[in-house]
Amino acid sequence: MSRTPIALALISGGLDSLLAARVVHDCGVDVRGITFDSGFFHLGKPGTREDEFGRVHPWVAHVEAVAAQARVPLEIVDVSNDFYRMLLNPAYGYGSHVNPCIDCKILFLRKALERLRELQGDFLITGEVTGQRPMSQNRTALDCIERRSGCHDILLRPLSALCLEPTKPEREGLIDRQRLLGFSGRTRKPQMELAARLGIQEYAQPAGGCVLTEEAFAHRFLDFRKELQPERELTHVDITRLRLGRHFRLAQGSKIIVGRNEIENDWLEQYCGNWGLIRPLECKGPVALVSTPGDETGKRFALGAVARYSDAPRGQSVQLEWIHAGVTEVLWAAASPEEELIAARL
Ligand code: SF4
Repeated sequence: MSRTPIALALISGGLDSLLAARVVHDCGVDVRGITFDSGFFHLGKPGTREDEFGRVHPWVAHVEAVAAQARVPLEIVDVSNDFYRMLLNPAYGYGSHVNPCIDCKILFLRKALERLRELQGDFLITGEVTGQRPMSQNRTALDCIERRSGCHDILLRPLSALCLEPTKPEREGLIDRQRLLGFSGRTRKPQMELAARLGIQEYAQPAGGCVLTEEAFAHRFLDFRKELQPERELTHVDITRLRLGRHFRLAQGSKIIVGRNEIENDWLEQYCGNWGLIRPLECKGPVALVSTPGDETGKRFALGAVARYSDAPRGQSVQLEWIHAGVTEVLWAAASPEEELIAARL
């Protein structure tokens, strides 16, 4: 008796990856799901299920729900270190902001291929649809992604298979090409109809998109990259700080981050590292981090910013804690003028 073919489906969390995995699963293939944690899908350490405060990451809960609807088991793999290295200098550049979509897909596919070999599997599955997205899903980009990832001929895109040359698993009869689809272009209608046919009525929307596609994040990231020493690698702590709070850059180089709500304040305290930390005393207000704790200007600016965003009445000085290198000082500060804050805001 011939063995059941094994395929590894990349589950991104979107409807297309769900449908692609489900279509192949329904053809009788043993489909296993895999999701890569780039370090940008949630706050908290990459590759973990829960954050430092014991809450399951919404992104993890979402991809698990998607895999369950595709009826495939799911493995989540941390690729953040490789991703951070690639992000500083992506071979194919960025999309509309700092999203290196082509390099990202190549990286994920290379990692998937490694895992496929470990599983002694036959082919890979993605939910890509030709012509759906301008940068990464046009035909030339799909070919390039396939070639550069080393997945040529074993990468099946079930939703667009009929628009593409038959792949090895189709030619060898591991999957019936007639049961695959010919979707292309930007319309989502065929996907919606297929979802309805498969009884997937209420698929969840992704919990937040990729932060790299956001303009505000791109602005902060590019500012950060300018300051990064050539030999220094990007870390999870850098990325977490870039995602939190209001950011200010002072002329002499200090970076100040001021929390916008309680959740961000908790995270900023968690990711303070060797930066200076400011906390309000006796009134509600934000936490701030200062990148250069020895710099008096940076410290003064941050104290004024915390006073400004605190709940203290305007014009009233605020009592604050300044903590650095295990030493705590209690200081008073008045709110910084609005123009000063605006001038330094990133
Ligand atoms: S949007 Fe983000 S996760 Fe998606 S391909 Fe682009 S970089 Fe990768």
